[in-house]
Amino acid sequence: MEKIRTRYAPSPTGKMHVGNLRSALYEFLIAKHAGGDFMLRIEDTDQERFVDGAIEIIYRTMARTGLVHDEGPDKDGGYGPYVQSERMKTGIYMKYAKELIDKGEAYYCFCDRERLASLKTEVVEGKEISIYDKHCLGLSSEEVQANLHAGKPFVIRQNIPNEGTTTFHDELYGDITVENSELDDMILIKSDGFPTYNFANVVDDHTMNITHVVRGNEYLSSSPKYVRLYEAFGWKVPVYIHLPLITDENHKKLAKRSGHASFEDLLEQGFVTEAIINYIALLGWSPEDNREIFSLQELIENFDYHRISKSPAVFDIVKLRWMNGEYIKSMDFDLFYGMAEPYLRSALPGDFDLKKIAAMVKTRIEVFPDIADMVDFFREMPAYDVAMYNHKKMKTDVASSLEVLREVLPVLEAQEDYSNDALYQALSAYVERKGCKNGYVMWPVRTAVSGRQMTPAGATEIMEILGKEESLRRIRKGIEMLQNA
Ligand code: GLU
Repeated sequence: MEKIRTRYAPSPTGKMHVGNLRSALYEFLIAKHAGGDFMLRIEDTDQERFVDGAIEIIYRTMARTGLVHDEGPDKDGGYGPYVQSERMKTGIYMKYAKELIDKGEAYYCFCDRERLASLKTEVVEGKEISIYDKHCLGLSSEEVQANLHAGKPFVIRQNIPNEGTTTFHDELYGDITVENSELDDMILIKSDGFPTYNFANVVDDHTMNITHVVRGNEYLSSSPKYVRLYEAFGWKVPVYIHLPLITDENHKKLAKRSGHASFEDLLEQGFVTEAIINYIALLGWSPEDNREIFSLQELIENFDYHRISKSPAVFDIVKLRWMNGEYIKSMDFDLFYGMAEPYLRSALPGDFDLKKIAAMVKTRIEVFPDIADMVDFFREMPAYDVAMYNHKKMKTDVASSLEVLREVLPVLEAQEDYSNDALYQALSAYVERKGCKNGYVMWPVRTAVSGRQMTPAGATEIMEILGKEESLRRIRKGIEMLQNA
């Protein structure tokens, strides 16, 4: 069987969009699942869209996510160059374009802007495009030669007949047949000598021996034209896999304005790389069972591309948050601490046992920025409502809480050892003397020292962090509030 070869072929136009990262991931998984090769090719033929620094983003993201390529601009595998602008300099695109001209499958076009502007236009996928009328196909070879000789600017166009149909196969969509009359004579070589993406992808995928092409389904409508090129050359058409659209919660195409459309956005929002990759893997693919948590290695083992779905994938930030929380929970503590420390430090400047606090929040946060809200009560007692002392299940209310806090105060004043264990013992002894339930005491104490309905730890753990002086100050303040209630 032939070795599977896939490629990630980004255009360096800016951030790493979630859709691009998904294409890269799926290409990587398809290759690795089958023991094949995965390569990186930079598609920079559209010089106008080129953004400085975008290539660095591509490398950085791939290294960070573990999508290690076997071949690429920095790793020659014998199919280079791996950057289209460099491939262009080898003359490869022009050579193949001329081969198509010789075969009658392409032709020189000398029409100037004015003439093109006067052509009929059609709206295709929301964009107004002009349909070329094959005017230059009618030029005699003498006219063509004379124009070339005179240095007249030209493009090279694909010659698609007006009659008949073209059929191609997609692994997910099956066979798709289109009327040739609906296909425009697209430009293969631009007037600046660069190939268009539409031409370069075909020449490159073939000459780099790519077996599987994975890309967004916005390319579905161009695929018949690509297939005609393969057929014109007599080349084997690769396996095509067009991925479903990724939408936001409102079922609109995931875009910048959603705030989480790029890998960089997600990192900034405190998501963990492994969780992002895991989540993106599920945007359009699912395993046979309902399993959701996969390491990259497990994805490689389980990824069967036949299970990619055609329905749009909704990017659900709530789900990603949940998944991220799962990754944080199972993360090695030191690694977690390294990532959490900056958030803890900025929320709690001063003298706090941040490691202990980190251990408290580790199982409770979904993303790192959640830390601030969860721990800021350590720094400063928040304002709270006495109604918080009323707890049905704990059977506490304002009166019972006042009584408990008053009785507990001398116990805590007498207590020297403010470690969690010692405090817990002291309060448990009080609970026993009183003959009540634990919560009947712990609820008002925790409320008094935190002012929060939800805390990352119990009353005594909180007091251990606060220390004796601050804990007592808060309990006394609680008593005062309850008295005035
Ligand atoms: N350069 C194209 C893009 O970034 C690649 C599409 C493809 O995979 O062929 O969208």
